[in-house]
Formats: sequence, structure tokens, C-alpha cells
Amino acid sequence: MGRLYVIVVPRYLAWGMVILACCLVVLAIYGSFPLAVYTIALLPEDVIYDVMLDAGHGGIDPGAIGNSDVYEKHFTLDIVLEMGRILTEHGLKVGLTRDTDRDVSHLVENGTRHRRDLLGRFKMMNQARVGMSVHANSTKNPSTSGAIVFYLHDSYIDKLFAQIVFDELERVQVMNHNYVVPRSTLLLLKAKVPVLLVEVGFMSNPQDLAKLADRDFRVHVAQALSTGILKFLAAQNLEQSEP
Ligand SMILES: [Zn+2]
Repeated sequence: MGRLYVIVVPRYLAWGMVILACCLVVLAIYGSFPLAVYTIALLPEDVIYDVMLDAGHGGIDPGAIGNSDVYEKHFTLDIVLEMGRILTEHGLKVGLTRDTDRDVSHLVENGTRHRRDLLGRFKMMNQARVGMSVHANSTKNPSTSGAIVFYLHDSYIDKLFAQIVFDELERVQVMNHNYVVPRSTLLLLKAKVPVLLVEVGFMSNPQDLAKLADRDFRVHVAQALSTGILKFLAAQNLEQSEP
């Protein structure tokens, strides 16, 4: 609560005081508003999890569809559930945007189902220190293959996270690019914490699809992505503990 001060001033000073008060109000609004927003955004109770894992698609949204009716949404969920087990074993508090075959559009009230689903995932990303969204790709050219790691364009810390994950993923899967790929248009990457979107392979490529259909391969991918997250969190802790 603010305090109310009553100041008696000579009449000739009154207008000057009014103008000064207006200036102070304008400065207070424009000067302190962003700070207030950041302070609210960084309240510790906002962050509930160490990591938020997002299995792409789900429910009525199958994502990419491989031949013989295999769906991206099933592969991404399996990989993410495995990651959840690994990271929990390492003592991390893991959040999942979904742990069953469903979407997360129920978390947001307005907009189309697709938009609500996306915003729901975005909202959950902001409850963790870091996040990762796992997908499998598809394209018209069946010879296109390999994994891609997307990070937020122009973010140094996200790029570092992406590179660490890339180095781990490269051990178990061919990479589509030999570098991490910046993106400025993906909403999930714009969360206030470092978030990556990882495409683990192309369902439109027969070799990648065969790998993805193999449970052992999915476990290897989950292990690689989890190791990347653990290494990034360790690097972040080190940076924060330095004076
Ligand atoms: Zn996808």
C-alpha cells in the first residue's frame, strides 16, 4: 500500500506541481512496467519443473504419417516417456505436456483447437527451467533423412543448449544438417526458458522410418536427448554458481 501525502503549496506553485506529478506518473508507468512484468515472470513459484518434455501432436492430431499407418504422435510419446524415466532417475523434476494419446488444447480457452494446443504446450514450457519438444519429420522427397535440432534464432543460451543436444544425438542418428538450425517463427521456442524442438528423423524416409519403428532405436534417441539435457543443465548450474 502506498502512503498519501498532503502537501500545502502556494497557488503559484500548484501548476508546476501538477506538471511534475504528471511527469512522474508517466515515468512510473513507462519506466517500471517492464521491470514489474519481468519480476512477475521470474517468480520462483512459476518454475515447477527442471525440465518440460513435449511429445509432438497427440489425440486427433497424428502428426506425420508413415506408410502402413504409423503415426508420429506415437513415436514422439514413446521417446518422451522414456526420457521422462531417464531424467527422473537422474533426480530431475520432469513435467510432460502429455503422457497419453491426447492433445493439450484443454489448457487454453479461446481459439481454434490447433492454436489452443500450441498455446497449451507453450504455457507448460514456461513452468520449467528448460524444455524440449520432440517430433518426427515428413517431406515429399523420400531420400531426405536425419535429425534436426531447432533453437531460437539469436539466443546464445538456446544455441548452446542446441549444440550440446546435437552432439549427443549425432552419436545415435544421422543428422539432416551438420549444424543446429535457428528458427524465429516457432512459438514453442519463444518460451522464456531455453527450449529446443528436435526432429528425430523423417517418417517419409524408409531408413528413418524403419529405425523409428524399432523400440531400441527410440530408447537410444531418448538416452541421447536426455544426456544432452543433463549436460546443458550442468553447464547452466556451473555458470550460475560462478561469481
Ligand atoms: Zn511434428
